Amino acid sequence: MSQEAGTSQASTRLGQTFERIAEACSEVGRDPRTVTLIAVSKTFGVEHITPVIAAGQRHFGENRVQEALGKWPPLIDAHADIVLHLIGPLQSNKAREAVQVFDVIHTVDRPKIAQALKSEILRQGRNPELFVQVNTGEEPQKAGVAPGEVAALLAVCRDSLGLEIAGLMCIPPANDAPAPHFALLAKLAAEHRLAKLSMGMSADFETAVQFGASYVRVGSAIFGSRA
Ligand SMILES: *Cc1c(COP(=O)(O)O)cnc(C)c1O
Repeated sequence: MSQEAGTSQASTRLGQTFERIAEACSEVGRDPRTVTLIAVSKTFGVEHITPVIAAGQRHFGENRVQEALGKWPPLIDAHADIVLHLIGPLQSNKAREAVQVFDVIHTVDRPKIAQALKSEILRQGRNPELFVQVNTGEEPQKAGVAPGEVAALLAVCRDSLGLEIAGLMCIPPANDAPAPHFALLAKLAAEHRLAKLSMGMSADFETAVQFGASYVRVGSAIFGSRA
């Protein structure tokens, strides 16, 4: 595909996604400016990302630190206003690189990661926005803290480490209706006075918006299906 055709397809899909967000907002009386769309570019190369940047998109999500380091530094050099989000699990030995390249980290889920991030934030003088990931479906294979452990992890982050936490993030189980998971995340955030919610993907972002999402993480609806 030519660069121009790529740009136009990307802007069409972006435009459609923004329209769907606006419609979901209007159904529940939300201001669409309170929802930020993250374009999830994992597995897609720079040639797919460049047209989406050209279409005006600035928030992007990646799920692997190494993949992000291989793609994003030149794009960030060229567009200083890009905001890069880590939406995949973080190992503590990757905390240094994660704090270097990401502006928002959605996947804090244990004290060891919180501690590693705190050290790097102090060392590098960077200040990423942080989310605690909650395993709302309590799935054994899935990352995230169990709903019943949220209070304890927040206490470690906020009280012991002095880390500011912006909000909560979840990925509902693939085969469940997402709404009860979004409702649970919103309830936990309200209980702990957390302002932001990271929830909703291509299949369910409108529902997430109706339950109060501040960030929706949309990949295939913008970039097409992943190989
Ligand atoms: C891949 C991914 C997304 C985007 O998924 P789509 O279904 O392609 O929109 C959102 N959130 C997380 C955590 C992901 O890993």
